Amino acid sequence: MTPADPWLDFRSDTRTVPDARMRAAMTAAEVGDDVYGDDPTVALLEARVAELLGTEAALLTPTSTMANLLASLAAAGSPGPRGAPRLVVGEDTHMSFLEGDGLRTFAGVELLPVAQRPDGLPDLDAVDEVLAGGGGRPAVVCLENTSMMRSGNALDVTATLALADLAHRYDAHVHLDGARLANAAVALGVRPAELAAPADSVAFSVSKGLGAPVGGLLCGTHAFVARARALRTELGGSMHQAGVLAAPALVALERLPELAADHATAAALAAGFETVPGVELMRPQRPTNMVMARLAGLTPEECAGRLAGHGVRVLPLPNGFVRFAVHRAHDMIGVRAAVRALAAVAATVPVARTTTGGDLLERGSSTTRTEEA
Ligand SMILES: *Cc1c(COP(=O)(O)O)cnc(C)c1O
Repeated sequence: MTPADPWLDFRSDTRTVPDARMRAAMTAAEVGDDVYGDDPTVALLEARVAELLGTEAALLTPTSTMANLLASLAAAGSPGPRGAPRLVVGEDTHMSFLEGDGLRTFAGVELLPVAQRPDGLPDLDAVDEVLAGGGGRPAVVCLENTSMMRSGNALDVTATLALADLAHRYDAHVHLDGARLANAAVALGVRPAELAAPADSVAFSVSKGLGAPVGGLLCGTHAFVARARALRTELGGSMHQAGVLAAPALVALERLPELAADHATAAALAAGFETVPGVELMRPQRPTNMVMARLAGLTPEECAGRLAGHGVRVLPLPNGFVRFAVHRAHDMIGVRAAVRALAAVAATVPVARTTTGGDLLERGSSTTRTEEA
């Protein structure tokens, strides 16, 4: 199977491919053996990410999925005499519906999904109730920022602090799944470290909008990261000449301010969809690089299938919407093509057939990548 055209592939911001500069960095990377702790490029990446997030230390992991799993194990341990550790997660999060089985199987946790507010923050009363029960077993309270099922809404420091303060009252560990924390920081105009400060650990991804080929980083105190490092080896996640993977990630970190261009492109996409009759958008308060849309009368799978017929790839979600995730391969030409495709699909649905939504197709201007955050 050949890969889809990146410029019309909106399924995920993981769909970026390493460019010439990243490949050159991989070729030139100085490597050692990270299992023996002497790969200088990995050490540099870990130091840079720890600095970015304001933590004492960071650990490179093959994926953010592994970073989240290690966070649970390092913070709460495995099931002990008192029972399984508790993992409190928003019900509409990556950790809940994509990693939940793995967390139960490999970390032995009792997964406790809680409702989320419209902005994506776990409902504080629900978290309070869950933490008050459970007989004092270790607990990890998770927060996802940006909130993927809330159309990539960015949660601010106030929201993060509210959850962390509550969790800490129960001596729970606060883990921030910040796969897209860089997007949140850029959208809010704050430093990533400010958003990370209330949490005890953070999982950060370099392979989403930042565009590195692979990689997560688990960040926290020296002691926490040392525990996670030992557990990573047990899980089979320690990699020898990992400097070749750290090198493009270092390039990715330099591009953090460029996420603003993705957000502008996503805003143009949302504005385009507004002109299409029959399209309903999820409207996050603090949008980033996601647009979620649905068409009355079509399931997300049907909608995605019909868009694919027009060459546009999107991700159908269990919340009834399809997701357009914008990344650096997208520009206004792709935006116009996506709007045209959604308008064509909408025109085939009876409820949307009476009017047309053409005007944006002419109206769009080009976006350029800016250097400002
Ligand atoms: C992508 C993602 C992950 C998992 O990252 P991988 O590196 O693909 O394992 C975890 N959490 C969130 C919120 C994500 O978007």
